[in-house]
Amino acid sequence: MSSERDGKKLVRSPSGLRMVPESGMLSSPFCFDEPQWVPDKECPRCMQCDTKFDFITRKHHCRRCGKCFCDKCCSKKVPLPRMCFVDPVRQCAECALISQKETEFYDKQLKVLLNGATFFVTSETSEKSETMVCRLSNNHRCLFLDGNSHYEIEFARISSVQILTEGFTPGEKDIHTYTSLLESQYITEGGNTRATGMLLQYKVPGSDDLKQMKFTTSEDLNSNKKLSATWLVAMHKAAKLLYESRDQ
Ligand SMILES: [Zn+2]
Ligand SMILES: [Zn+2]
Repeated sequence: MSSERDGKKLVRSPSGLRMVPESGMLSSPFCFDEPQWVPDKECPRCMQCDTKFDFITRKHHCRRCGKCFCDKCCSKKVPLPRMCFVDPVRQCAECALISQKETEFYDKQLKVLLNGATFFVTSETSEKSETMVCRLSNNHRCLFLDGNSHYEIEFARISSVQILTEGFTPGEKDIHTYTSLLESQYITEGGNTRATGMLLQYKVPGSDDLKQMKFTTSEDLNSNKKLSATWLVAMHKAAKLLYESRDQ
């Protein structure tokens, strides 16, 4: 696969410059398109504070939700990496808050995922565990697993991510599923809960069969258990981000 060296191009949208992959087919699963702007004639008043627009009170569109606001309600310029904007763009208060959290994901967790970490990986079909380095591909579309064997798992094919934890009484709460991530507690790097593994379910290319892989943090001398736990926390946030953007 040549996907590791995808070209990017700069495109100009009404909201600013965006750096996007040459081929739309290769866009990151974490990214989404710009919203349709609410047409000017459909919003005589600020959609937040209800101030009437006139020659002095001008309207501005939030680049994230596309709604219409007065300057006061839409004054913040915040990075919006999920729409590939090069510079911070104007957003309403609600969107600015979400974007700020996502920027944190881009600055921290995404880098952890790209750097990779070491795990014992057990595939459903084989009893043997293999020590593998797992990392996110540069275009964010796949997980690469490298050991004696090599696997590429496309994010689009992942149906569930369960983070296994230790540190409190075993029970339902030990498993954070992709489908119930919204209700799940956050696994923090500090605190009592520690991520110790991950169950990944994905669709095998060319079929509807689900395959499961289990990742556990390795006690191997050559690996860094703390780094692996940090990688799992980052993966949890990534899954949560992808889960939430399914509704958008
Ligand atoms: Zn307003
Ligand atoms: Zn907004």
